[in-house]
Amino acid sequence: MSEIHRALAEALNRAITNRKFIDRENGDYLYVSLTQPPIKVVDRHNSDDELDWTVECPNCGRKVDYGHEIFMVSGHIYCSDEKCKKEVYRRAGVVL
Ligand SMILES: [Zn+2]
Repeated sequence: MSEIHRALAEALNRAITNRKFIDRENGDYLYVSLTQPPIKVVDRHNSDDELDWTVECPNCGRKVDYGHEIFMVSGHIYCSDEKCKKEVYRRAGVVL
């Protein structure tokens, strides 16, 4: 995803969250959900492609690979950890 795409994601998040918008430096954080706060980037690994980046799971705090270990259900973000997934699904009202 390019910087333009990241800026668009931030603008959409800002429009939808309105006064609850959490303003973070785009690139240090990623606006991956329309409704949720941005997630923290831990390491960019000298890459411009965020799929290569390591981020902090906003639910459990684990440091995970953004491209392969971050998922979303109903706008809520979770990681590849099974406990984390179950907790977010329960909170989102999704039955497994
Ligand atoms: Zn997690």
